[in-house]
Amino acid sequence: MWLWDAFAAVGGFRHCEDFTGPDPEGYGLRQGTIHRGRRDSSASAMLMPALARPNLTVLSRTAVTGIRIEGGRATGVDVAAAAGGPRQVRALREVLLCAGAVHSPQLLMLSGVGPAQHLESLGIAVKANLAGVGANYHDHPAVPIALEMRDTTSYGLSWRTLPRALWNLAEYVLARRGPLASNVFESTAFIRSHAGAVRPDIQVAFQPARRNLNSSPLPMGHGFAFSVVNLYPRSRGEVRLASSDPRAAPRVNPNILLDPADWEPLLRGLHLVRELCDMPAFAPYRATEVRPGRRLGSDAELRAYLREATATVHHPVGSCRMGIDATAVVDPTLRVCGIDALRVVDAAIFPGIVGGNTNAPIVMVAEKAAALIAEAITMLAAAIHLLLVAVLGLVAAVVIGGRARPPLPSRQHARPSPGADDRPDPADWS
Ligand SMILES: Cc1cc2nc3c(=O)[nH]c(=O)nc-3n(C[C@H](O)[C@H](O)[C@H](O)COP(=O)(O)OP(=O)(O)OC[C@H]3O[C@@H](n4cnc5c(N)ncnc54)[C@H](O)[C@@H]3O)c2cc1C
Repeated sequence: MWLWDAFAAVGGFRHCEDFTGPDPEGYGLRQGTIHRGRRDSSASAMLMPALARPNLTVLSRTAVTGIRIEGGRATGVDVAAAAGGPRQVRALREVLLCAGAVHSPQLLMLSGVGPAQHLESLGIAVKANLAGVGANYHDHPAVPIALEMRDTTSYGLSWRTLPRALWNLAEYVLARRGPLASNVFESTAFIRSHAGAVRPDIQVAFQPARRNLNSSPLPMGHGFAFSVVNLYPRSRGEVRLASSDPRAAPRVNPNILLDPADWEPLLRGLHLVRELCDMPAFAPYRATEVRPGRRLGSDAELRAYLREATATVHHPVGSCRMGIDATAVVDPTLRVCGIDALRVVDAAIFPGIVGGNTNAPIVMVAEKAAALIAEAITMLAAAIHLLLVAVLGLVAAVVIGGRARPPLPSRQHARPSPGADDRPDPADWS
């Protein structure tokens, strides 16, 4: 609630009841995909419950090393499995590539789909020259602001809070409830950082816990922290192969903050967070800003801090962009341009990043792909059905037509004279 009170005191921002609703602007409590005290994922929520289906096989500890493309059509994938495992998996209908914004372009390029010059420089035979593969890579840049305090209200471990920590542990183990069932980032704000913004352009994520400045896995001490996220960055990076060996990691150049316009929302966000921290809601905690630290005050100093401290919030997208122009990698039905029976279904297809967290929109992309595939199968079934009905109709028409034919003229009447040939005249059967 600290953040809410501070936002209310700063003024000019509204409260948001539901960030999954039609108007997700303002500050409020964050929704999380947490089930029985544990973070849920699409694997645990959707794949695991379907494991018993007879039409599903999951190969774990098996890496795809390339897509088989024969005669311009994806026919399956090559895999590196544990000893005794398969070497390749053939596709009956099509291959769906869902390896994420880094590995989907990597696998396409390893399979000969990508910028021809780059592939040829690595000795990879080009199956489709698509300059867009690996381009348009981007992510949400974010900058942290960290405060520390002696007050023990926040999450965190200290001798003074040992009884509370033990209670929280017991609460979690016995009932899967309490602070340990939280993802810590409990409240947030999607807001406009300046009056001219046409939509929220920054997210302010709040963490009521000290931000660990070292690599300790334990949340020692007390404090709180913010992350200011630029929701619509303009900078674009790229994914390229380091080698034609599928075991080699690809080269990712994210080009964060390459475009000068990407700095401004972060800078405005830093100033806003300081304003929030100076509000009465935070006063009782008497916290000290340790990052960037109040000794850095001018825009030039804060820009230097941005250069040093900006990272991303793990939302890479865009490296197999969907579109209808010449550099698009997939079409609006997610099919890879120039290759049959191959779709990309993951964050890589985003033309531009969404102004929020990426997981739910990617689940939506998958749901849309499932609907498109089901629709195509339904249409195929309907076409086969129509064809069968037409063929059966034709056969029936021929049979019934044959039966309804008027009787052949009687040979006896036509016979000119007894003893003449009484075999049917073929001309009568025309
Ligand atoms: C630490 C972290 C925290 C995050 N927190 C949030 C959050 O709070 N909210 C939110 O909305 N988003 C969050 N995200 C982002 C979110 O997880 C991603 O945007 C989303 O998972 C991307 O989905 P995807 O299907 O594109 O790729 P992924 O989820 O990365 O799926 C790709 C899959 O392909 C597999 N794969 C890759 N290469 C191969 C290969 N050669 N062979 C076989 N398999 C392969 C990978 O192992 C992986 O399982 C977070 C991400 C990270 C890393």
